[in-house]
Amino acid sequence: MMADMGAVAEQTAKLHLDEETGELVSKGELKKRQAKRAKKAATAKAKEAKAAVAAAVGGNDKKPAPKPKEEEVVIDSEAMFKQGFLDDVFKERPMKPVVTRFPPEPNGFLHIGHAKAIAVNFGFAKYHGGVCYLRYDDTNPEKEEEKYFTAIQDMVHWLGFTPYKITHSSDNFQKLYDLAEKLITLEKAYVCHCDDTEIKLQRGGEKGATPRYRCEHASQTVEANLKKFRDMRDGVYKPREAFLRMKMDMEDGNPQMWDLAAYRIKSDTPHHRTGWDWKIYPTYDFTHGLCDSFEKITHSLCTTEFINSRQSYEWLNKVLGVYEPMQREYGRLNITGTVLSKRKIQKLVDDGHVRDWDDPRLFTLVSLRRRGVPPQAILDFISELGVTPSTTTIQIKRFEQSIRKYLERTVPRLMMVLDPIPVTIEDATETLDLELPFSPKDPAMGSHTVKFTPTVYIDRSDFREVDSKDYFRLAPGKTVGLMNAPYPIKATSFGKDEATGKVTEVRAVFDKEGKKPKAFITWVGTEGSQRVEARVHNSLFKSERPDDAEGGFLNDIHPESEVVYPDAVIESGIDEVKRRAPWPEAAGESERGKSGPEGVRFQAMRLAYFAMDSDSKDDKIVLNKIVSLKEDAGKN
Ligand SMILES: [Zn+2]
Repeated sequence: MMADMGAVAEQTAKLHLDEETGELVSKGELKKRQAKRAKKAATAKAKEAKAAVAAAVGGNDKKPAPKPKEEEVVIDSEAMFKQGFLDDVFKERPMKPVVTRFPPEPNGFLHIGHAKAIAVNFGFAKYHGGVCYLRYDDTNPEKEEEKYFTAIQDMVHWLGFTPYKITHSSDNFQKLYDLAEKLITLEKAYVCHCDDTEIKLQRGGEKGATPRYRCEHASQTVEANLKKFRDMRDGVYKPREAFLRMKMDMEDGNPQMWDLAAYRIKSDTPHHRTGWDWKIYPTYDFTHGLCDSFEKITHSLCTTEFINSRQSYEWLNKVLGVYEPMQREYGRLNITGTVLSKRKIQKLVDDGHVRDWDDPRLFTLVSLRRRGVPPQAILDFISELGVTPSTTTIQIKRFEQSIRKYLERTVPRLMMVLDPIPVTIEDATETLDLELPFSPKDPAMGSHTVKFTPTVYIDRSDFREVDSKDYFRLAPGKTVGLMNAPYPIKATSFGKDEATGKVTEVRAVFDKEGKKPKAFITWVGTEGSQRVEARVHNSLFKSERPDDAEGGFLNDIHPESEVVYPDAVIESGIDEVKRRAPWPEAAGESERGKSGPEGVRFQAMRLAYFAMDSDSKDDKIVLNKIVSLKEDAGKN
C-alpha cells in the first residue's frame, strides 16, 4: 500500500546532520546542542585565556578570526579569464582569433597539476572564441609509450574540451631539421664535441664563479658545421660524440642564453611514430617555440619554471624570422599530502600499496575520475583558486572541500548502510511504499519509491547493547527515529553471536505514543535493496609531506587508507540513479549515458559522497567514497 507519507517525508526532509554525532536531528534540537557545545567551549576557552594571561603577561592574545559561514556560492568558471593575470595577458596582445596549445610530453599520466594547464589553455581559447591544439611534445623516443597518448586525450575530453587539432612535434621533424640548417647558415648554430665537464666549465663552472667562454667548435665555418650536422643525421657519430648548439649570448645573465643544445643523437631507440627515420632529435628549447610558431599560437601559456626560457624562445623565432607567438607564464598548482612523480607512483603500484595508476587514493586525473570527482568540480576548483604568476600550493582537504561544495548541490541522496544489522519491527505487519525526494532542496531531481519493510537494516554503529543518557540512537528500551519512516522504533531485545561477540539482530516495536525522538538514523529495507561493496578511502599518506618521512615516502603510508565494507546495503533508489547517470551532466559528461561508472554519484546520507567503481559487475556494485560529508570525518 502507499502510505500517506507526505507529512512525514516533509518533516524528516527538514532534518539536519549533527556533525559531531552523525545523527539526524530537528533544527531545534541541533540549535540546542550547538548552544550547549558553544557554552562548553566558551567556558573552556575563558578558563584557558585566564590561565594564559596568568602565565604569560604580554603574550600575544589576538583572537582567531571567526570561521566564515559556509555559503552556497556557485563558482563562475570563466572568472579567471575575465579578470587578473589571464585578462592582462589577453589585453597585452588582443589578437583574434586566439590560438593556444596544450603541449604535454607523452611520457606519463596527467595529474591534478596538468588539469590547471588544460583549464588555462583550452579555457582561454574557448573564452575568447578561439581554438586550442593538443600537441604531443614527442621528441624523446626513449620515454614515450602509446598508452600515454590515449590517456592524455581521454582526460582532455573528460574535462570537457575538444582540441582544434591533435598534433605532434614529430609532425615537424623535417621542417625543424631544415630550420636547424638555416640556423647554421646564419652562423647561429655549431656542432660541438665537448663533454659534460667541458660544457659545465664553459658555463662558468660548478658555482658559476669562473668566466664563461665558448669552445673551439664555436668558430668552425658554416661549411664545416653543415657537414658535421649532416653526418650527425646520417649516423656517422655515436650518441654524445656530437650535438648541435645554438650560438646565443654567453655574456647574457640568463643561463638560457648560454649556447643551448638544439639537436642530440639518439640512434638506439626507434621513435613511436617515425620509427628509425631519424638518428637525431631536437631538444625542447629548439622545438617548443618553433612548433608554437608553425601553429600560429597567439598566446603560449606555460608555468613559471619556463620564465627564463622566454628569452631563448623569443631569440630563436626572431633569428629565424618566423611568426612570433607570445609566451607568458602562470604559477603551477601543487598539492601537498600526496606524491605526483611518475617514479613514486610506479613504486606504489609495483609494491601493491595501490590498485593501479587510477587508484582513487592517487591524484592522477585517471584516479580522480575513477574516484568519482566530477570534471566540472575540478574546473570550478581551479577557477576558484584563480590564475596568477605565483605557485599555488594547496592541501588535499582544501581540494576536497571544493568538491564537497559542488556535490552538495548536484547529486541525489540515498540511504545506505555500511555494516548492516537487521532490525525486526515486531508489530509492523505490512510493507509500505515511501515516496522520497532525491534532493531536499531541488525538486527537479525527482523522487523515488522505497519499501519500508517489517525488517530493516541499520548500521552497527547506530545500536548499543548498553544505553547511556547522552546517547540518542538505538539501544534496549530506547527510541530512535527512522528517517522518513511513519513511526519511531524502540528496541526490545537483541541477539548475539557468542563466538564473535557481535550483535546479529535487533528486535523492536513501533513507539507510536512516545515523544518525538531526539535523533533519526538511516536505514535500508529488505525489499528492493541490494548488497554492494563500499570502499571508503582516507588519505593515502599520514602527513602533509610524505617525502620528508624518515626512510622515504613509503614509510608515511596510512595503514587504513582503504577500508572495505563488503556487505553494505543500499536502497532501491540506486537503480534510478544508475539509469539517470551522469550526475550532474557537466563538462566532459554532458551527455546522458556518456560517462563511465563514475558518473553514478550520490550522497549516502550521514555517510559520504560515493560513486560507482569500474570494478562493478552487472550483479555487483562496487562503490568508492568521493569525499566525506564534512571536513574532519576521520572517524571511519
Ligand atoms: Zn665544443
